[in-house]
Amino acid sequence: MKEQIYTIPVTDAFREDCECPVCFLEKNLEDQYIEYFLGPSLMEPDHRIETNDKGFCRRHFELLYNRQENRLGLGLIVDTHLQHQNSNLKKLFGRKFSAEIGKKTDTAHKEPTSSFVKNISLKLKSKKTNDDNFIENIIERLRNLEKQCVICSKMDYTMGRYLDVIFYLWSKEKEFRDLFNSKKGFCLIHFRQLLEGTVKYLNNNDRTIFVENLLKMQINNMERIQHEVNWFTEKFDYRNKDAPWGNSKDALPRSIQKISGYCNLK
Ligand SMILES: [Zn+2]
Ligand SMILES: [Zn+2]
Repeated sequence: MKEQIYTIPVTDAFREDCECPVCFLEKNLEDQYIEYFLGPSLMEPDHRIETNDKGFCRRHFELLYNRQENRLGLGLIVDTHLQHQNSNLKKLFGRKFSAEIGKKTDTAHKEPTSSFVKNISLKLKSKKTNDDNFIENIIERLRNLEKQCVICSKMDYTMGRYLDVIFYLWSKEKEFRDLFNSKKGFCLIHFRQLLEGTVKYLNNNDRTIFVENLLKMQINNMERIQHEVNWFTEKFDYRNKDAPWGNSKDALPRSIQKISGYCNLK
């Protein structure tokens, strides 16, 4: 099978006792990428080109920073990313304006910020139509940058391969199908992705079987977790003070994960 390298993480994740095996896969993958971008990727020129160009989303910048490892490495990534983005912005301003920015940087202490801003507004006022395009162009560039994240795009690709493997194993291996059907369901995001996957991967007959099993599993476990979180709230009643917690002690973070997918709850 072509996707062999993805089968071990998938079967390992499905052997875990958790609220969503696909979240388990996603978290492991994310951890690996965080480690990779704080370590080996720094030596890979191709990855530096990519991080310079795309950068990271807010979630992944937070995870990279909060890891508190190799802050020099992260600093180097951020430094060259900013150099690249600043250079792109300057190019958008045009040659003439770039020259002015250069001059302003040299005499930054003498030039008040207000004159810098005045120059921009003068430029904007003098060429209305071109300036509309100019502003739209900057907005478009910034929007694209916000949507891009090197880690998100790598994760999207690998999570796609994991879904391929889940459906492949479910179709071909009875042992995996039994394992799949023994789970506690999935978070709602991965539940939706699995339902979407049935269109791409399964024939009509298999699709009916898959969806029926999945829905039963999901509904039973959504009800289970709702009861668990309900008992969590009941435990705040003094009359239940001495009653056993059952599975409810950590029901709140587990139920949030069930609704929203893997998140960094403390
Ligand atoms: Zn999930
Ligand atoms: Zn991201």
